[in-house]
Amino acid sequence: MKKDLLYEGKAKKVYSTDNAEELIVDYKDDATAFNGLKKGTIEGKGVINNRVTNHLMKMLEARGIPTHFIKELSARETLVKKVTIVPLEVIVRNIAAGSLSKRLGLEEGTKLASTVLEYCYKDDALGDPMVNEYHIKAMNLATDEEIKTIADYSFKINKFLSEYLADLNIELVDFKLEFGRLTDGTIVLADEISPDTCRFWDSKTHEKLDKDRFRRDLGNVEGAYKEIMKRLMGE
Ligand code: ADP
Ligand code: UDP
Repeated sequence: MKKDLLYEGKAKKVYSTDNAEELIVDYKDDATAFNGLKKGTIEGKGVINNRVTNHLMKMLEARGIPTHFIKELSARETLVKKVTIVPLEVIVRNIAAGSLSKRLGLEEGTKLASTVLEYCYKDDALGDPMVNEYHIKAMNLATDEEIKTIADYSFKINKFLSEYLADLNIELVDFKLEFGRLTDGTIVLADEISPDTCRFWDSKTHEKLDKDRFRRDLGNVEGAYKEIMKRLMGE
């Protein structure tokens, strides 16, 4: 089914298929952080991120969020709808951590009084700079209506995921989403939702169960990814 390798990113390879409107995404074990400065391998990560992403995307679809997901093809590969990615990283935050803590001087773990939505312009050469809705419109990255849809979906996704994960003793600290346009212009959720793109903390111990274990050399990176898959999928 795979035809040509269209793109090899830091975490995934993207292939064309016989159908011009469908792609195959192949998840790698490669890990990078700090805009590619830190490189490594997390054994089994590709399988876990593929399966966790698909599990969550199916759940979101059932709750009315359109996604690119079509079908899991193998442990690492998934058939998705081809989209034109809106070049934004949409970041949703419930608890201060990472770059927000640094930027605003908020101690990691500080509960935010209300959910924060941030946009970063997806451009590796510029280091994915933060932008606001005016920049997005001024650069023609998305229309007013698309920004509204993206924000609305992002808050709904946050509510669904936070509630679902809370039952599994996982705090959803923050996460990154990407959206894309189908050929008819419909906005759908694309890319991935995984321990690479979310901060997951154990609700009781606040142990980090995500890529921060790799970024910060905390050890037991593989164990944390496995624990997330076990809590979400029972295996
Ligand atoms: P990066 O580009 O940051 O290194 P990845 O290794 O995850 O990231 O590469 C996957 C690429 O595929 C990303 O650029 C992502 O925006 C893009 N992508 C994700 N889903 C789709 C889709 N349904 N259609 C087209 N492109 C997609
Ligand atoms: N994130 C991501 N890809 C990026 C940048 C951030 O998936 O290129 C996720 C990250 O895993 C975290 C959230 O977005 O869950 C917020 O990240 P932050 O801005 O705090 O950046 P970081 O501290 O990771 O540099």
